[in-house]
Amino acid sequence: MESIYLDYAATTPLRAEVRESILSAWSEFGNPSSMHRWGRRARTRLEEARERLAAVLGARRREVIFTGSGTESDNLAVLGRWRTWRRGEGASGSAGAVVCSAVEHRAVLGAVRAAGADGAAVVILGVDREGRVDSGSLEEALSARPAIVSVMWANNEVGTVQPVRELAERCREAGIVFHSDAVQAFGRERIRMDELPCDLLTVSAHKIGGPTGVGALYLRDGVELEPLVHGGGQEAGLRAGTEAVGAAVGFAIAAELAEREREAEAARLESLRDHLQTGLLERLPGTVVNGGNAPRLPHILNLSIPEVDREMLLMSLDLEGIGASSGSACRSGTAEPSHVLAAMGRGIAGETPLRLSLGRDTTAAEIEEAVDRIAGVVGRLRALAEA
Ligand code: PLP
Repeated sequence: MESIYLDYAATTPLRAEVRESILSAWSEFGNPSSMHRWGRRARTRLEEARERLAAVLGARRREVIFTGSGTESDNLAVLGRWRTWRRGEGASGSAGAVVCSAVEHRAVLGAVRAAGADGAAVVILGVDREGRVDSGSLEEALSARPAIVSVMWANNEVGTVQPVRELAERCREAGIVFHSDAVQAFGRERIRMDELPCDLLTVSAHKIGGPTGVGALYLRDGVELEPLVHGGGQEAGLRAGTEAVGAAVGFAIAAELAEREREAEAARLESLRDHLQTGLLERLPGTVVNGGNAPRLPHILNLSIPEVDREMLLMSLDLEGIGASSGSACRSGTAEPSHVLAAMGRGIAGETPLRLSLGRDTTAAEIEEAVDRIAGVVGRLRALAEA
């Protein structure tokens, strides 16, 4: 039985071109901070990678900070900004706040909670039944003059795309720093920082065919951040530690490839995703699509399936050779309900969420086969539960 990977939102296979570029970078060595020729060669590689990633993002080279992951970039944005605020505006004794949406990835929610433990008032923006942030609630939140507003570009569980331009413009008008976590959207949506009043943006390599262990934070010129990692002055003093040159090179190549193929690939994935959705809704009565009535990323489908046990479903799908998840990868394996579906008013007891996410290697034949196998598994589990 051929296995079918439908968990590209968790991570993606390393692309062959990316592997080549990393191996080539790894065949050399040198610390980019060293003055000698080995160091200068490593520095050149690193700065070339930064330049190429910046070009994809419509940014300047110095506005791209390499980090170890999307999670680290989110933390640097939220906590780094909060600490800057506390030292500056906060020093006069005024109360500070940090704002994010209720459907953020746990990387942002965790950083926001940490800021809360450090004295920030935490404001969580609610979403509608499709997972979209209500811009009215932003108005109210802005009156607290927060240190930062963080709203993701698109959600990792349901794929819902947020009205980022509108939110960023509103924050810019109010003079409030705006951050967006674009880990899932990068490579799938058009993201140009020279066309958007967004101050901070998070991206990660392993979601687009790049390596794990490298992310980046776009940091608009003039926006101040306090580093979270102290030591040497690497990455403009914002992220101490000898840079992972090979990983940065791989990230830049993956980003260029993803951007070059973005439009054609998004159309292909959307059509495959819609086939998967139609096929499963036909075969599994009572199933509902979460986030299906708002603008949605092309590769994510989130379903609520009644009358099946979550653990049993994921285990049985794995036995059938299907890699899927019940939501975000970092929550798989726990019985905790999805905070995203709960915020959308959809986390109903007795319904099991299933996230299927597609990618570069997904084929039409796999989608046909996946519909059969998933419908078969659900049917068998329901029959067992009734017996
Ligand atoms: N933000 C979102 C929306 C994500 O989907 C993920 C990963 O699942 C992250 C942040 C964390 O990225 P990383 O795995 O690079 O730490």
